[in-house]
Amino acid sequence: MKYDVIVIGGGPAGLSAAVQARVRNKSVLVVSSPTADLPVWKAERIDNYLGLPGLSGAELMERFEAHAQELGVERRTGRALNAMPMDGGFFVAVDSDVVEGNALVLASGVSQGPALPGELEHLGAGVSYCATCDGMLYRNKDVVVVGKSTHAPEEANYLHGLGCRVTYVSAKAPEGLDPAIPVVQAKRLSILGEGKVSGVEADGNTIPCDGVFLLRSAVAPTQLLPGLELDGPYIRVDRNMATNLPGVFAAGDCTGLPLQISKAVGEGLVAGLRAAEYLDHQ
Ligand SMILES: Cc1cc2nc3c(=O)[nH]c(=O)nc-3n(C[C@H](O)[C@H](O)[C@H](O)COP(=O)(O)OP(=O)(O)OC[C@H]3O[C@@H](n4cnc5c(N)ncnc54)[C@H](O)[C@@H]3O)c2cc1C
Repeated sequence: MKYDVIVIGGGPAGLSAAVQARVRNKSVLVVSSPTADLPVWKAERIDNYLGLPGLSGAELMERFEAHAQELGVERRTGRALNAMPMDGGFFVAVDSDVVEGNALVLASGVSQGPALPGELEHLGAGVSYCATCDGMLYRNKDVVVVGKSTHAPEEANYLHGLGCRVTYVSAKAPEGLDPAIPVVQAKRLSILGEGKVSGVEADGNTIPCDGVFLLRSAVAPTQLLPGLELDGPYIRVDRNMATNLPGVFAAGDCTGLPLQISKAVGEGLVAGLRAAEYLDHQ
C-alpha cells in the first residue's frame, strides 16, 4: 500500500502531525522506534502541557497514542534507515522492509549525538545500522554490537542465533541479552580499520571484529534523507514546517529550540496540515 503521508518518529510531534493528516482524510503511517525509547517516556511529571498538568510522560504519550489510533493512524515499530524520492513520492527503508508514501513528515526528535570516530568512513565497509538487513553477511564472523536502544539486545541475540560471534558494548548493563554473549561496558568508542572495519576501541581497549552494528533508536536526519538542509544541528524549516525538499516537512525537537512538548504538538499540527495540502495540490 502507498500511504499519503509517512511520519518518521512517534513522539508528540509525529503523532500530532499524524492526527491532523488523518483529520484531512489522508492515510498515515507512523514509523517509530519502540515507545519505551521515547525520551519523554521517562519523565515523572509534566506540569507545563496546557490543560493536562501532573501527568507522567508515559501517561501523556498513552493519551496521544490512543487518540491517533482511534483516528486510524497506522504504526510500524522499527527504524527508518533512509528515505529515497521516487516517482513523485518516497520509498522509506524500515529495517529490512520498504514502505511507500507521497509525503514525509520528519519528527525524529533531537539528534542522538555526533557520529562515532570512524563511523562515517566505514559505512558500507563494516559499519551497519540494521542487524536484520546485514546480519547474514557476518555469519561465523566477529561482530561488535553497540547497544544504544532498548531493542539492541534483541538484535544482538538475533545475530548470535545466526552464528555471528557477538560482543555487546554499551554504557549500561543490557536487559534481555542472551547470557552467552559477552558484555563490555564502555563509554568512549571509536571504530578502527584501514578501508574496512578491523575493530572497535572501547575505553582504550581494542576489540577485534569484522563488523560493527550501531543500534541507536534514531538515525541522523541528513543520513535519512541526503540533501536535507540543516540549521546547525536542526532541520531547516519555514513557517509551514516545509524543509528544502519538496513533499518533506519536519516538526518538533528536530527543528530546534525550545525542546518542549507544546511546541512539538503545534509544529506537528502545521506539518500535518501542510503535508495534506501539498498532496491536494499534486
Ligand atoms: C526526562 C524528560 C523530561 C521532560 N520534561 C518535559 C516537560 O516537563 N515539559 C515539556 O514540554 N517537555 C519536556 N521534555 C521534552 C519533550 O519530551 C520533548 O520536547 C518532546 O518529546 C519532543 O517531541 P518530538 O516528537 O519532537 O520528539 P521525541 O519525543 O524525541 O520523539 C521522536 C521519536 O522518533 C524516534 N525516531 C527518531 N528517528 C527515527 C527513525 N529514523 N526511525 C524510527 N524512529 C525514529 C525516536 O527514537 C523517538 O522515539 C522532557 C524530556 C525528557 C527527556
